[in-house]
Amino acid sequence: MTVAFVTGAAGQDGSLLCERLLADGLVVHGLAFNQTEADAIKESSPDVVVHVGDLGDTEAMAQLVTWIAPDQIFNLGGISSVAFSWDNPLETGRVTGLGAVGMFEAARRCQEQTRRPVRVLQASSAEIFGQPEQAPQDEATPIRPVSPYGVAKAYAHQSASLCRSRGLFVATVILFNHESPRRPPTFVTRKITSSAARIARQGGMLSLGNLDARRDWGWAPDYVDAMVRAIRHEEPDDFVVATGETHSVADFVAAAFARVGIEDWPQHVQVDPALVRPVDATEQRGDASKAKRLLGWEPSVAFDELVGRMVDADVALLERLR
Ligand code: GDP
Repeated sequence: MTVAFVTGAAGQDGSLLCERLLADGLVVHGLAFNQTEADAIKESSPDVVVHVGDLGDTEAMAQLVTWIAPDQIFNLGGISSVAFSWDNPLETGRVTGLGAVGMFEAARRCQEQTRRPVRVLQASSAEIFGQPEQAPQDEATPIRPVSPYGVAKAYAHQSASLCRSRGLFVATVILFNHESPRRPPTFVTRKITSSAARIARQGGMLSLGNLDARRDWGWAPDYVDAMVRAIRHEEPDDFVVATGETHSVADFVAAAFARVGIEDWPQHVQVDPALVRPVDATEQRGDASKAKRLLGWEPSVAFDELVGRMVDADVALLERLR
């Protein structure tokens, strides 16, 4: 049986991926950062073998990988929020950057010891492109990150291709923003959809940063599907995963408020300068032609549908909490 090890197993993508791999019949081990995360994984996916550990502790991770002896490692763990990374650049570098390279090294060591191939999937991010001069961005777009998160992801991304040249199968997916009701409200999408649900019920205001930032927002389960396709592809390679369409934060707000029947959304939104980032990519738009061509991947959920699903989930959550 194929054994997979998923880091970041408690997160949006990690939890979706564990469910997908279990459904495909794999034995799935998941890394949680603390006991609260471990309990959450056990609750939602009892068949996952959960380990608690720090991805940034590279020696402990190497020992864990040797013990699990996985066929596939999906490295999704790390600091996942650009906003958080501005206040925590060291921690971001340690976990998101060094932690990833530690995982590649652990895979190489395991491969040498067991003499069985270990495949690795690294979750890269559109943040590695920073404020790109060309749109859309593809696998050849220059890597010029503009946030601590992007810098850490760029280090991991470029180390992946170095490892490839040293005989390790490391595929990367360069993920553009991908959302679902499992997103925490530290991300603008979930912040907007949970606020729309709340304001529809009891009124109030929503504070946001830059309303003009444009993002290429896709449906998270589609992006998890791309990860699975990339690690199963015959060659390790880099794949941009994106819809190719962009919308502004204001567009997202308008669609979310419309879903709960509020048309005059500017009455409920204020801009808080403290939420505007020091540097921010103004527009990210990905060209996923390569993933479509080589992996047969396609996004399945359009923007309005994505916003609608997230808002509906938040409305239902409020109903349950009532
Ligand atoms: P990111 O693209 O991975 O950083 O995902 P986010 O959801 O955190 O941010 C998407 C965009 O929304 C960025 O351009 C942010 O500057 C912008 N944005 C505007 N207001 C907010 C806010 O209140 N919270 C967050 N997280 N982002 C905001």
